[in-house]
Amino acid sequence: MQMRRYYDSGVTKKYAFRREQLIKLRDAVKKYEKQFHEALYTDLKKSPEECWVTETGFLISEITATLKGLKGWMQPEMVGTNLLNFPSDSYVLKEPLGVVLIIGPWNYPLQLLFTPMVGAIAAGNCVVLKASEFAPATAAVMKKLIEETFSPEYILFTEGDGAAVIPEMMNNFTFDHVFYTGSTAVGKIIYKMAAERLVPVTLELGGKSPCIVESDANIKVAARRIAMTKFSNAGQMCVAPDYVLVHESKKEELVAALKRTIGKFFGDKPEESYNYGKIINERQFDRIVNYLQQGTVIYGGRIDKEKLFIEPTILDNVNMESGVMKDEIFGPILPVLSFSTKEQALKIIEQNKNPLAFYVFTSSSAKEKDWLNSVAFGGGCVNNASWHLTNHHLPFGGRGFSGTGNYHGKNSFATFSHSKAIMKTPTWFDPAIKYPPFKGKLGLFKWIIR
Ligand code: NAD
Repeated sequence: MQMRRYYDSGVTKKYAFRREQLIKLRDAVKKYEKQFHEALYTDLKKSPEECWVTETGFLISEITATLKGLKGWMQPEMVGTNLLNFPSDSYVLKEPLGVVLIIGPWNYPLQLLFTPMVGAIAAGNCVVLKASEFAPATAAVMKKLIEETFSPEYILFTEGDGAAVIPEMMNNFTFDHVFYTGSTAVGKIIYKMAAERLVPVTLELGGKSPCIVESDANIKVAARRIAMTKFSNAGQMCVAPDYVLVHESKKEELVAALKRTIGKFFGDKPEESYNYGKIINERQFDRIVNYLQQGTVIYGGRIDKEKLFIEPTILDNVNMESGVMKDEIFGPILPVLSFSTKEQALKIIEQNKNPLAFYVFTSSSAKEKDWLNSVAFGGGCVNNASWHLTNHHLPFGGRGFSGTGNYHGKNSFATFSHSKAIMKTPTWFDPAIKYPPFKGKLGLFKWIIR
C-alpha cells in the first residue's frame, strides 16, 4: 500500500513536517469555516456560534495547543534507573505508530473526525479518515479540505456505508491503530475486527450519563447548566446529561427552574429558534419519538417529522423497564427521577454501568467526593455538565462499556505514539557480580533486588 511506503520513508516523523501539516490544517479549517458552518446547518441546523464552540473553533484551539506543546512532547522522556541497573540511564522515546484509521460519527461530524487526526499528525502518523455517511454536507467539505491540503498517501479521506467500507479496509490491511467514535454496538464489531490482526484500538463510545442534583445544590445554576448541554445539538451529544436524579426535596424546584430555563433559551417555538437544532435523520427521529410514550410529558413533547423537530422535553414518572431508561437517549428528552437515599440513586445508575460522563451538583465537598468515588465513569463535572471535554488538559474518554483509551491535547499525542523504553549502559563499569558463576551471590542479589 502506498501509505505504508510513504510512512516507511520517514518523512512524517520529523518535527518540522508535523508542525507544517498542523499549520496547513489550521489554515484550511479557517479558510473553510463558512462552508463548514453552512454544511453543519444543513446536516444538524447548528448556528455558527454553536459550530464555533463545538466544531470549528474547538478544532482550531486543539491545533493551537498541540503546536504549542509538540516540541516538548517529542523529546525523549528521562526516567529514573533502579539500583540493579546502576549506572545506566533510562528514557522513553515517543515513536509514531504508523498508518492509523480514524472513524467518526455524525453528531459532531467535523470535530470528532479531525480532533483525533490532530493527535495522529502530531505523533507522526499517516491517517485514513472514515467520515460518517449520515452527515453528508459536512463530509463533502471535509473531503474537499483534505484532498486539497494533503497528499492521499499521507492522509486519505474515505466515506460511504460504514458496514461495507470499514470491514473492507480492516480485513485487508493491518492498521497500526484504529480510533473509533460511535455507538457501543458498532464499537464491538470494530474491536472484534481489530482483534483478528491484534490491532490496538481506542474506542470512544456512548452511554447513559447520569446527572445528580443534591439537596444542597444551587438549583437555578444547575437548571441552566443541565438545560444548556442537554438540549445543545438537540440532545445528540455523547456527554449530554442523559437523565437527572434529583434529591426528592428539590424535585419540584428543579423541574420549575428547568421549565423556565428552557423557555428562556428556546422560546415558545423552539422549531423556529436560532439556538435549537434538528434530529439528524428519520431513523433517529422515530427512535427518539418512541421514548415520549415511556413516561409523563411535563414539558414540551411536540414533534414535526418533516422538520425533524423534537421539542425540548421533560419526562416524569418514567418506566424503569422501558427503552428510555435502558438505552442512551441521544435526543432532547430529559427524564427527571428523584431519590431519597444515595443507595437508591446508585441502584438506578448501576443498571447502565460505566457511563461516559457523570455530573454532580452539590455545594458540599464531602458529598462531591463521595459521589465521585461511588461511580465508575469516564470523566465528568462538579456543578457543571459536559464542559470537561472542552479542556484539552484533561484526558477525554470512557471506561468499560463507554470506551477504552482517551485523547485531547497531550493525551492524543500519547494515544498515537508508542512509548519505546530504552536503557543505555556505559561500558566503563562492568562488575563481575553480574555474570556467572552465580553460586554464593544470593545474599547480595537479595540486598540489591528487594
Ligand atoms: P455509529 O456507530 O452508527 O457510526 C459511527 C461510525 O461507524 C460511522 O462512520 C459508520 O459509518 C460506522 N459504522 C456503522 N455501522 C458499522 C458497521 N456495522 N461496521 C463498521 N462500521 C460501521 O454511531 P453514530 O450513530 O454515528 O454515533 C452515535 C453514538 O456515538 C452514540 O452512542 C454516542 O454516544 C456515541 N458517541 C460517542 C462519542 C465519544 O466521544 N465517546 C462522541 C460522539 C458520539
